[in-house]
Amino acid sequence: MILLILPLIVVWGIGAATGAPMRQRYVMMAVVTAIWAAMQFALPAGNPMRVDTEYLAQSFVGGGVIVAGIWGYRRLFGRIKARVTPDVQAPPRGFSGAELDRYARHVILREIGGVGQKALREAKVLVVGAGGLGSPALQYLAAAGVGTIGVIDDDTVEATNLQRQVIHTDAMIDVPKVHSAAQAMVAQNPYVTVRPYHRRLTADIASELIADYDLVVDGCDDFETRYLVNSVCAQAGVPLVAAALTQWEGQISVYDPARNAPCYACVFPEAPAAGLSATCAEAGVLGPLPGVVGAMMATEAVKVITGAGDPLRGRMMIYDALYAEVRVISAKRRGDCAVCGGLNTEAA
Ligand SMILES: [Zn+2]
Repeated sequence: MILLILPLIVVWGIGAATGAPMRQRYVMMAVVTAIWAAMQFALPAGNPMRVDTEYLAQSFVGGGVIVAGIWGYRRLFGRIKARVTPDVQAPPRGFSGAELDRYARHVILREIGGVGQKALREAKVLVVGAGGLGSPALQYLAAAGVGTIGVIDDDTVEATNLQRQVIHTDAMIDVPKVHSAAQAMVAQNPYVTVRPYHRRLTADIASELIADYDLVVDGCDDFETRYLVNSVCAQAGVPLVAAALTQWEGQISVYDPARNAPCYACVFPEAPAAGLSATCAEAGVLGPLPGVVGAMMATEAVKVITGAGDPLRGRMMIYDALYAEVRVISAKRRGDCAVCGGLNTEAA
């Protein structure tokens, strides 16, 4: 008996002293045990050592057969399980340990997994406006690990913004919103690249800028920019997640004529006449409302990028905070749309 236990102790001791991985140590112990068991059978029958330890040797062989059986069963079960469950939950390649920790709750989600998290990291999203809707959208896009986030806005932070534009802090009053937002996003997630553009999105730069992104999230608060962004996105085939707010109500949709969903102009062919549509400054807006709808924008962006679920293409969600009601209405692409009417569509 001592002839077995002594070598095992020595092997384990060497493994511990050299810091060998546990798996290696177990393998070495198994090898020593196997050699020892083989020696028992190699000895001639009647050998005193064999007689003395015969029962022990048989137990080891029996135990070995049981362990091998369990191992084989687990391998087989694992293969069947892997066949039933697509391997979307494998850790994404090229991510550091710290990033894997950070995105662990995404990686274990069946609809995102390692593949989706990698798609998020490779994605480039432009957010128009760093105000009420832009604030939560930017925060969640950064936290979710969208690799490159552009943000364009020509405003500076004002005291009246702070009731709802939660990405900005009191200390950032008078600082350009894009710089305040960029600082907050990188502080939240140092693994994302933020590109702040402190200027207004105008027709002369819109095409070139939007062509550099995979997806646009529009949280601007004026119709001129909204129609411009829609038109450029439609031409470039870039999906557009856009939302708007009034007092207690928010609406959101994914405009994507390249994939046979309507564009913004299909649903709203004309902007309301000047004076008919009150701005937040004129009419007021509930503080948490842009939080709800802006987070929905980030949600739709993540879905479009990762291919998870069914984004709001061809559907508009309307959230009425005052009466706690949500409605979803469908919207169709219009053949005579001035913006996307003549555009080709990928097979939807
Ligand atoms: Zn259209």
